[in-house]
Amino acid sequence: MKVDLEFQKDLKKYNTFSISARAKSFAIFKSEKELILLLEEVEKSKEALLILGGGSNLLFTQDYQGIVLKNEIKGIQILSEDKDSVLVKCGAGEVWHEFVQYCVGKGFAGVENLALIPGTVGASPIQNIGAYGVEVKDTIESVECIEIATKNKKRFLANECAFGYRDSIFKKTEKGKYIITQVAFRLKKQAKVNTSYGAIQQVLDEKGIKSPTIRDVSTAVIEIRKSKLPNPAQLGNAGSFFKNPEIPSAQFEQLKTQYPDIVSYPGFKEGMIKAPAGWLIERSGWKGKTVGNVGVHRLQALVIVNYGGASGQEVIDLSMEIRKTVKEMFGIDLEPEVNII
Ligand SMILES: Cc1cc2nc3c(=O)[nH]c(=O)nc-3n(C[C@H](O)[C@H](O)[C@H](O)COP(=O)(O)OP(=O)(O)OC[C@H]3O[C@@H](n4cnc5c(N)ncnc54)[C@H](O)[C@@H]3O)c2cc1C
Repeated sequence: MKVDLEFQKDLKKYNTFSISARAKSFAIFKSEKELILLLEEVEKSKEALLILGGGSNLLFTQDYQGIVLKNEIKGIQILSEDKDSVLVKCGAGEVWHEFVQYCVGKGFAGVENLALIPGTVGASPIQNIGAYGVEVKDTIESVECIEIATKNKKRFLANECAFGYRDSIFKKTEKGKYIITQVAFRLKKQAKVNTSYGAIQQVLDEKGIKSPTIRDVSTAVIEIRKSKLPNPAQLGNAGSFFKNPEIPSAQFEQLKTQYPDIVSYPGFKEGMIKAPAGWLIERSGWKGKTVGNVGVHRLQALVIVNYGGASGQEVIDLSMEIRKTVKEMFGIDLEPEVNII
């Protein structure tokens, strides 16, 4: 078996921000064997390594002076099932939304609210993707990886992943040490759908659906997302640029006296409240503004967009301006959700 590296590869079509940046070397791996061969090349070259999934949660700010390896390990397998649940193992290079549709098609419940999130299955545990009241951590049983330093396999059980709000050990203590190759999901056979978040219930009511199936929920989520979020195929972006900041509840109460219409979500930690970053950005006047080739989306203030030909640095400069205004107005530090490369 032989794996070929390409040199000075333009990554524009491999990131949803559609930013031009060159990788010094680049290769695609479709199996663990190919990955291990490529890791041997990385070791010999002593160069930096970047793993790429769908490129929907990263921003290139410069050319990458190292090796970029794109994960295309496919395959979905049912490992076991009983009357209540099923354990499904999925190759990390499968497209997340296609995996969701597979589950919906089979009647396996748990991920339907996460429909249409771009990217790969392998990246889903890294920031514990979440939407419409559901986080992927609630369905993950284990995460299989290759350890870069040893090229050995390692399996993390969900409770070893330290999942948090858009967070896990793969972004913290174990950052850059493992390549995720497979994810095992525990999905339910008896669906208890979650329609409480956002506009899901409203969409179902409009359609006269009284007892929604997981397909109904996934269809509603797809419709809502299409109406609200820019499609990266048409307008470069990486979804929410910032995380919703978690602030002490006392600070939130103080803000609420000044801004009674501010909404909130429960924080991950005791005594903390999640404030809506989109609301803070909108209130600070940025929604719909354009600066050069970049701007803040007109419908969704959390999304920074590339109107065409933008550099990563332009995106960073705009994000810094937004952070400055939000800090000045509300005393809150916004933290990027997107991985800055
Ligand atoms: C329009 C839009 C909407 C979005 N909506 C949401 C949303 O609702 N909720 C949400 O949580 N996210 C959302 N996102 C963000 C994004 O879709 C997710 O973070 C997704 O999981 C990223 O997957 P990816 O394969 O594209 O990762 P990439 O962007 O390719 O990589 C992200 C990071 O993970 C690392 N990585 C990727 N794969 C692996 C692997 N197999 N092993 C080790 N490291 C790896 C990369 O090195 C990088 O640091 C949205 C993005 C867009 C563009």
